[in-house]
Amino acid sequence: MPQLAQRIGRAKPSAIMVIAETAKQLKAAGRDIISFSIGVPNFLPGEHVYAAARESLSHDSGQYGSNRGSDALLDAFLRHIEALGFTGYGRLNLSVGIGAKQILYNLAEALLNDGDEICFPAPYWTTYRDIADIVGAKANVLHCGPDQNYKLTPQQLETALARKPKVFLFNNPSNPTGMVYTREEIAALADVLAQYPDTWIVTDDIYNSMVFDGIGYHNFVFARPELRDRLIFVDSISKTYGMPGWRVGLIAGPENVAKAVTTLNSNHITSVPEVVAAAAIAAFSGPQDVPQAKCKEFAQKRDVVLAALANIPGVVCPRPQGAFYAFPDISVAFGKSHNGTRIESDVDFCAALLGAKGVACVPGSAFGEPRAMRISYTCPTAQLEPGLARIAEFFAELS
Ligand code: PLP
Repeated sequence: MPQLAQRIGRAKPSAIMVIAETAKQLKAAGRDIISFSIGVPNFLPGEHVYAAARESLSHDSGQYGSNRGSDALLDAFLRHIEALGFTGYGRLNLSVGIGAKQILYNLAEALLNDGDEICFPAPYWTTYRDIADIVGAKANVLHCGPDQNYKLTPQQLETALARKPKVFLFNNPSNPTGMVYTREEIAALADVLAQYPDTWIVTDDIYNSMVFDGIGYHNFVFARPELRDRLIFVDSISKTYGMPGWRVGLIAGPENVAKAVTTLNSNHITSVPEVVAAAAIAAFSGPQDVPQAKCKEFAQKRDVVLAALANIPGVVCPRPQGAFYAFPDISVAFGKSHNGTRIESDVDFCAALLGAKGVACVPGSAFGEPRAMRISYTCPTAQLEPGLARIAEFFAELS
């Protein structure tokens, strides 16, 4: 019998999908389920996006497209990132992918040799770990617990960079914690990065449009423009425009990296579909009222989540200021029981919560923080409050 490749042994099914799948099955079996599990924005883009897609279909070329992305898409992205604060970039600094996920995989292939070190803070987006494993890189996980608001400190970064990793991967605003780094915090980390010229910097900032409390979005290159030669900014239409199923992500970075990603595209995906590119161009270039309204709505929902969690004795939730996640420390429940079910871990907790109350949350260990769980709060308000009430009830029933 032939064997699968060794790298498949290292690839694990996404823990988020496992919970989401169980919740789906319970729902199909007639249970009343409230899902806080999947990180989907839960809104649709504006009508102009659909109009652009229909228009594109009406004169479809039916052909393969550019490996880098069409000039029109690249130009729309350039204008979009200029508005964020990235200036002086041209088409040769860019490349496209089937979502940020595929671009991140391409970047790992482009930047990491077998055995090279990649470091990133925990809590991390689950896929970082998996991509590192699949390409055979060594992950140095920098633990940033609830006691430090889940944020990386300059001292931690310094210690990690002293090991001369090939890549430092950073995510701001954060999935799963919703943390956002302030201008000052970014500047302090950028000062450290500037001292270690042998490390590539990848900033996965696909939630950059969802920042609350007036903090604004900041990137290391805004503080230290000299980092541009080795920093790759990753963006996507998935969260900002409510288009996760359309699958478009883009990078802006040094020309040699954009070229490497484009070469990998020529072998992996060829191009993004024409109609999808037309929709992405419309999203980037059209009115930004939908993302702006959603950002406001998510900030209000964040307040609802924090208010509910604050009433649960022993649960601590560092205040999220972006994206649409909260990441409470639930370890106060460990060692207790719910209706005879013993809870020793985050995984036990989330399984018991789903079983007893029909609320699906993702165990924090999927993100490298086993004291917590992730609440994705984009569901309709009519579900949010009852879901939170059920979590509170569950805690109250622990003995
Ligand atoms: N990066 C982060 C931090 C994410 O949370 C996600 C999706 O959840 C992605 C990347 C992937 O985004 P895309 O849908 O563009 O592949």
